[in-house]
Amino acid sequence: MTLESYEKKRNLSRTPEPSAKVKKTPRQRFVVQEHRATRLHWDFRLELDGVLKSWAVPKGPPVESGIRRLAVQVEDHPVDYITFHGTIPKGNYGAGSVKIWDKGTFRLKTRTDDMYEFWLKGKRLNGRYALVRFKEKNWLIFKTKTQD
Ligand code: MN
Repeated sequence: MTLESYEKKRNLSRTPEPSAKVKKTPRQRFVVQEHRATRLHWDFRLELDGVLKSWAVPKGPPVESGIRRLAVQVEDHPVDYITFHGTIPKGNYGAGSVKIWDKGTFRLKTRTDDMYEFWLKGKRLNGRYALVRFKEKNWLIFKTKTQD
């Protein structure tokens, strides 16, 4: 079960976060959630395989090309998490506020174990992006210069 890690980290009766349910939809949506937890970060999530593939980006995903930001891969989240915002109560995993910073759709160009290339169509994030793994859970996210 792919959301095992999501479920293990949480006591789902004590947080308003969605239940650990895999849900295949024909949509390709993304979301960026501003998460004021112990440390402020932005969670970048792509809807794939019935889950949200997720990365925590300490400085937030870049709006412009030429900037590379660290993106630490975290556990897959349920698709229903895509609309989640609000407060995770004190004492729970990820306690703090969650706000939707951007959302939209994406089109996947390339996907390997270590690299994703995709087009984002959101309000703040638009254009061609890449996520490239450089070590274990550590990836870089950046906007690529586009001609095509
Ligand atoms: Mn987070």
